[in-house]
Amino acid sequence: MQDKIILRRLDDMHCHFRLDPLLTEVLPVTAQYAGRGIAMPNTRPRAILTRNDVLWYHDEIKRVLDRTPNRFSFEPLMTIEVRDITTPRIIINAWQAGAVAGKAYPLGVTTNSNEGLRDFFSPKISETFKAMQDIGKPLLIHGELDLERTLVTKREDVFLPTLLKLAEKFPNLKIVLEHISTKKAVETVKQLGKNVAATITAHHLCLTLNDVIGYGIQPHNGCMPMPKDFDDRDALIEAATSGNPKFFLGSDTAPHSREKKECSRGACGVYSAPVLPQILAEIFEKAGHLDRLEDFTSRFGANFYDLPLNKDDITLIRKEWTVPEQIGSVVPFLAGAKLQWQLVS
Ligand SMILES: [Zn+2]
Repeated sequence: MQDKIILRRLDDMHCHFRLDPLLTEVLPVTAQYAGRGIAMPNTRPRAILTRNDVLWYHDEIKRVLDRTPNRFSFEPLMTIEVRDITTPRIIINAWQAGAVAGKAYPLGVTTNSNEGLRDFFSPKISETFKAMQDIGKPLLIHGELDLERTLVTKREDVFLPTLLKLAEKFPNLKIVLEHISTKKAVETVKQLGKNVAATITAHHLCLTLNDVIGYGIQPHNGCMPMPKDFDDRDALIEAATSGNPKFFLGSDTAPHSREKKECSRGACGVYSAPVLPQILAEIFEKAGHLDRLEDFTSRFGANFYDLPLNKDDITLIRKEWTVPEQIGSVVPFLAGAKLQWQLVS
């Protein structure tokens, strides 16, 4: 039995680094093992909407990294939020400031999306998507719709027709359907062209809805999209471990302080960063595809974004450890659980 894994530094293509004080707490965790991480733009109080926001947030992140010992070569990949007001000019200026993608949240489906996109097909936003297609930068989508008489567990299903229509209208637009949670989403992404990919989180590979509400309400497993059924989880594991380059890592690590999770209308988001490479190694080993872990964590995402592969490696060793009950102000994913792989520096 293999007792050591040498892995190319990860590309985590979906991270919520937040703003200080959380930024200082959580960013060094990802920087321990990732070469790059996509910084999601739905920060508050200041969201990342323009070139100036991109430059400002990049500086905030760099400032924390500069104070972080052993940060190696971590590089944040910046994004902007695409809203109804986002023009082609705003997009182009953001790219020139270093943004690698634009993120669209449909109105009202997740943390800080109350100013999200109302209509994916308005003439105005179509101009913006066209500009993104022309310059070859990806549109990242939180693929859920909050429609009338639609359960939270069906919100991803009802978004998929929008994805199909977008892919038809913009045949060369790079699209990433973020944090997919259903078998249907896996199948839909597979059937589309190679310009359409999906990120998969570690927690959606572990959880079903039972782990959120089936045994007493477990707020630290609550996230959007909600974990779904066993067949869905099986399909996600299959996709992640299949070697299909359309599926790559985006952890959606989304820290909230313990108080914000353990309350009425608790915030959605799973803080998976402290266990990410460790739990992924366990999942891939269990699926019998440890040999495909690096493709998922460190190759397919870079290829999709046209980035060179990370150069450095990290090492995991087989040694049981217990995930702490709390790290700083946040309860991590799998708190109190025993994991089989440890990250060694
Ligand atoms: Zn997210």
